[in-house]
Amino acid sequence: MKIGVFGGTFNPIHYGHLRAAEEAREMLELDKVLFIPAGNPPLKSHNIADAEKRFQMVTIATAGNEFFEVLDIECSRTGKSYIVETLEELLGRYPHAGLYFLLGIDAFLDIPNWCRPDQVISMVDFVILARPGHFFRDLQASPYLHADKAALALMDNSGIADHAKVDMKSGKKAILMRGMSLAISSTDIRNRLQTGRSTKYLLPEQIESFIISNSLYGALNGVNECQ
Ligand code: ATP
Ligand code: MG
Repeated sequence: MKIGVFGGTFNPIHYGHLRAAEEAREMLELDKVLFIPAGNPPLKSHNIADAEKRFQMVTIATAGNEFFEVLDIECSRTGKSYIVETLEELLGRYPHAGLYFLLGIDAFLDIPNWCRPDQVISMVDFVILARPGHFFRDLQASPYLHADKAALALMDNSGIADHAKVDMKSGKKAILMRGMSLAISSTDIRNRLQTGRSTKYLLPEQIESFIISNSLYGALNGVNECQ
């Protein structure tokens, strides 16, 4: 069994997350993708919705995909959320599965700042997702990959293979996945909400409604004197 593991703050979840997870599932023939909202992210503190609300949003957004599942491992844990502990738990739960940790180029470059990074990179394989504003060639700065700049830069050009396998120094592998690469981020969505700009078609409608009805992110709810 091949299982994708998609961790994130999902503050809020958007189509960039959903589309990337679906493309990885299809391309790598994953049997399922586990979405794991971070409970109390150690590296983020600004304008974060409660873990319970973020968990609910991920549950609503993934409900229409039979391959997607949401786990509350991190949301239900007290204290900070550390990926290393989550992976330990998943390896215990699925001892015979191949686990693939899905993450964007930006997040992969951030791994050295995580708790016990050397352990994290030796536990599972990685699927590194393209993200506008980031380049595969930037991964040359990562201490974890065996790949030269030219090989990485090839993946920045469209028209060549849609994914490539790279060896990791830990003995695990990393799959670089170009995909559709949607220029959507939760930060941009929060900014739009705070300034009353449209977020239509950036995230599912049910999530927009959930944000408004739960007064998340200082969203202006668009009510005017006529209503
Ligand atoms: P924020 O702007 O608050 O950091 P975000 O949009 O980056 O939010 P996160 O919850 O931080 O979302 O990201 C979770 C994971 O999803 C990370 O690995 C991130 O790289 C990846 N990701 C987020 N948006 C995209 C996207 N548009 N395309 C591909 N991967 C994405
Ligand atoms: Mg992010």
